[in-house]
Parts: sequence; C-alpha cells; structure tokens
Amino acid sequence: MKLESIKVMIHRYLNRDMGVILIYHSVVDCILGFNMWTHMPLNRFAAHMRVLKQQANVIPLTKMISSIQKGKLPKYSVAVTFDDGFVNNFTRAFPVLQHYNIPATIFLSTAFIGTTKFFWPERLAFRLMRTNLKKINVLDQGFSLNSDEDRCNAYTHLRDYLKKLHPKEIDTELKKIENILNIKETFINDPIYQEWLPLNWDQVKDMEDSGLIEFGGHTADHHILSRLNLSEAEEQIKACKNALDLNLKYPTKLWAYPNGEKNDFSDDHKELLQKYGFLYNFSTIPSYISINSETNTIGRIGIGSQTDTDELMNILSKRDRWEELDKTQRIKMALKCGLFKNFDTTTKSL
Ligand SMILES: [Zn+2]
Repeated sequence: MKLESIKVMIHRYLNRDMGVILIYHSVVDCILGFNMWTHMPLNRFAAHMRVLKQQANVIPLTKMISSIQKGKLPKYSVAVTFDDGFVNNFTRAFPVLQHYNIPATIFLSTAFIGTTKFFWPERLAFRLMRTNLKKINVLDQGFSLNSDEDRCNAYTHLRDYLKKLHPKEIDTELKKIENILNIKETFINDPIYQEWLPLNWDQVKDMEDSGLIEFGGHTADHHILSRLNLSEAEEQIKACKNALDLNLKYPTKLWAYPNGEKNDFSDDHKELLQKYGFLYNFSTIPSYISINSETNTIGRIGIGSQTDTDELMNILSKRDRWEELDKTQRIKMALKCGLFKNFDTTTKSL
C-alpha cells in the first residue's frame, strides 16, 4: 500500500466525527471547448458518487443540520449539494444519485427555472467556445481566439472583469460582447446548449417526489447579494422564497449564497434570510462540519470539474491534520485503522 493511501485512511479515521458538505454545479455529457470549473464530466461525477457510496455515509443536508443541533454527527458523514439548477442535475446527475441511492440538495436560482435563459458565465463561455472569429476586441482589449487555450484565457479574463460589476452592468456589457461574438441561430441544437439550460419545475417536482432530492434558495437571478443595495437584495430573497413556496411540496429553510465567499454576503443579508424563513445558510467558504459548527452560516467545499477521485478522498480525509501527528501517533492511528496487515517497509517513512 502506498504511503499516500495510508495517510488518507488514517485521516479518514481521525476525522470520522467530522462532516463534509460538497458543492457540485453541473454534470455534462458532452465535450466542452475548454474546461470550466463548474461543469464536471458525467463519468467523473459517477466515479465520485461510487467513491462516496463506498467510503462515506451520505446523508441529506437537513439531517446534517439536525445532527449538529443534536450534538452528534453520524460517522463519516457527507452531504452532496448542487448550486444554480442546471437541467443536467436532472438528466445527468439524478440517475446516478438514484443508482447509488445518494441524497442531495439543489439550490435554485428561481428566475431561471423553466426558462431558456443561461447564467451569464455560460452566455459568455458558450459564445467563446462556438464563435468562428479568431480574434476580438472587447472592453478596449484585444483577445486572440486561435486555440481552445486562447478562448479559455479570454473567458477567464472577461469573467473576472464582469463578476465585479453590478448585475445590471454585467448584462449591458455582456450584450455588447454577445453582439461581437455573433454565433449562428442553429445553436439551440448544440449539445452544450442543451446541457446548460436550467431545470424546469416539472423536473424539480419529479426529483422532489423521489424523496432523494431536497431544494433550497439561491436568489432569483443569481445575483451576488453584496453587489446589490439592501432593498434589491431583499427583492432577490423574497422572489426566490415565493417561487419555491409556490412550486415545492415542502417549504424550504435552506439557502446558499451565490458565489458564497466572505465578501459576498453580510449580517444584514442573514437577517433578511431569517425574515423569509431561510434559517440555514450555506457559503462556499471551505470548512468541515463538527458538532460545534454554527447552523446559521455553514461552510462547504467546492468540487471542481478537474477534481479526481484521489483528490476527493483527500478532501474527505481532511488531510491538514497530518503534520500535527508525531511518528508514534501516526503508527498508532494506522494500527487503529486496521492498516499494516501487510506490514512492509513503506511504514518506515510514516
Ligand atoms: Zn451559484
């Protein structure tokens, strides 16, 4: 057995009382023009779920919360979440989740559900992937589009610029870019287009009826709350709540902040969310769950499209405690894990 695998197993054991909440976004079964962090290939997602089935105790997010409140987390607990509400959560991810009987929570940006609107990063990426142009001039800057790598660089640059703007400005700027990156009208038959559409409410209902999937709020228009003034933010929360109440069987108390980093929300937003019944809020600030975790804002760990199953195991194992252990403790832990049945020289380097 390799030292790396031993470390992972020891940490799985050491951290067995800590939970992990994973964030996925989109699961695609087509070749993209360039890699995007949020769009994971179906075969990789299926491999992740197989690992979770074998190595973890996947519980619904609401059970993770009630376990924190009771002061006792099930051992090796993991919760699976998806942000945004891509149609592929139903067409690609849901069959895999059903196959492994893995529960999950999907956070919906409700103004997209049942429409053919793309989230703005996908509006940009889709055009950059499909344009015939070899170079463009946007935002007073020239971008070469000769290779997939060029297109990916242009995407990253433009996305990072747009992300800082007020949502209305994003739309205005994006429309200008879309005019330049003019693509043919036949794009609705494009496999990428089909994979990136949002869910509709019938699909949401089907998944809710399965008893395997629960839903939460993620604003109406996927605006980062801190980019809005407080009344605009309240409007986003209220509209999302109303749409969810109208379409779900059970009112949800779950909320995930768009983008979800430290500067993307404030205490004012937390108060608004409480007012509208979103009692349990999730960020994208990476952290592990323990019985001491607060249930008001809970950290999650983002899983990117490039995360392979070894890296997933590292994440589940919370590897950063390795350095805290001296050699004797490492060996003791390894013995407790039932390792070293085939004790060999590898252990000397522990
Ligand atoms: Zn999101």
